[in-house]
Amino acid sequence: MPIAREARGRDPELGEFAHVDLLHDVDPGCARRLLAGCAELAVSTGTRVLEAGADNDAVYLVLDGELEVRLGEADTAPVARIGSGSCVGELSILSRLKVSAHVVATRPSRLLVIPDAVVWEFIGASHEFAANLLRLLSGRVREDNLRLRDSLDAQLRYQRAAKVDAVTGLYNRRWFDEVAARQAQRACTEGVPLSLLFIDIDHFKQVNDRHGHRAGDDALRGVADVLQAGVRPIDVVARFGGEEFATVLYGVNAAEAGQVAERLRRDIAAHALPGAARAVRVTVSVGVAELVPGEGIAELIEACDVAMYAAKGGGRNRVVTRGTIAAVAAAS
Ligand code: GH3
Ligand code: MG
Ligand code: MG
Repeated sequence: MPIAREARGRDPELGEFAHVDLLHDVDPGCARRLLAGCAELAVSTGTRVLEAGADNDAVYLVLDGELEVRLGEADTAPVARIGSGSCVGELSILSRLKVSAHVVATRPSRLLVIPDAVVWEFIGASHEFAANLLRLLSGRVREDNLRLRDSLDAQLRYQRAAKVDAVTGLYNRRWFDEVAARQAQRACTEGVPLSLLFIDIDHFKQVNDRHGHRAGDDALRGVADVLQAGVRPIDVVARFGGEEFATVLYGVNAAEAGQVAERLRRDIAAHALPGAARAVRVTVSVGVAELVPGEGIAELIEACDVAMYAAKGGGRNRVVTRGTIAAVAAAS
């Protein structure tokens, strides 16, 4: 059973040390005896009290003034401010490792220097001091965790922004290049068919000219939605460029890909665009090609592009598959 203690809290007997967090509940006699061996240090604005990567042999208690903790050099934003009653340097003393951050005075400050040996003496002599130190450390760990979480969130946001197109919410060209190349390689290794669809909105410049750029953006979003909804969940559609989209159909041969492309073309031409995009009628021309053995993704994209231009040449609002380019060209 724990022994009941009378909480002493902030003891006025400790004078100017009464507000020091580390001395909370510490027996004033014990505190005074140990503090007697500590020297005061006056520092001016800008003084570097601790240097990241350097050795440290003391805890610095702020009696007056303020210190700033920075993980990088002077131009980096401070991660913490240490005011009167709090301290720095305890981590390197307890871990016996080098200092992990720069600590700089933001104004003229008065510090109490508690040498390494005295810190350990305090820990041995006062259960309360040790508990205060643990509380201080757990607070620092908690702050670090929150900072880490924020920075991970930001990292995820940046990673997502780097892969996703802001107008349509589809994956962008950068993502497409990476993933399509990987899928093509995998299809070759596994002997599975893979097809690519290249979808270009017809006369899109006129859409902008007639309805305005904003309506053009709505149409882009509408086409993106129809395309994404019209393929399997694993067939992710990317915005390849301005009004061009691409999707890799894994495990799908040219004939099946042609049918998918035809269905998507019909949906768009049938004016199935959702929301605000309904105001604008658009059609698309689609190029289709299946990966042939020995071919890389660059050649497949090229073949699809040629097929798509054949669809434009053939009158637009149509699907052309690599194998039928010559026939389409002859007919037009
Ligand atoms: P074609 O049928 O031959 O493909 O004709 P097109 O007008 O669609 O092709 P062109 O390449 O001449 O024009 C593409 C247009 O797409 C021009 C550009 O203003 C528009 N565009 C590209 N990106 C965006 C965008 O993010 N928003 C809007 N509103 N328009 C865009
Ligand atoms: Mg185009
Ligand atoms: Mg176009």
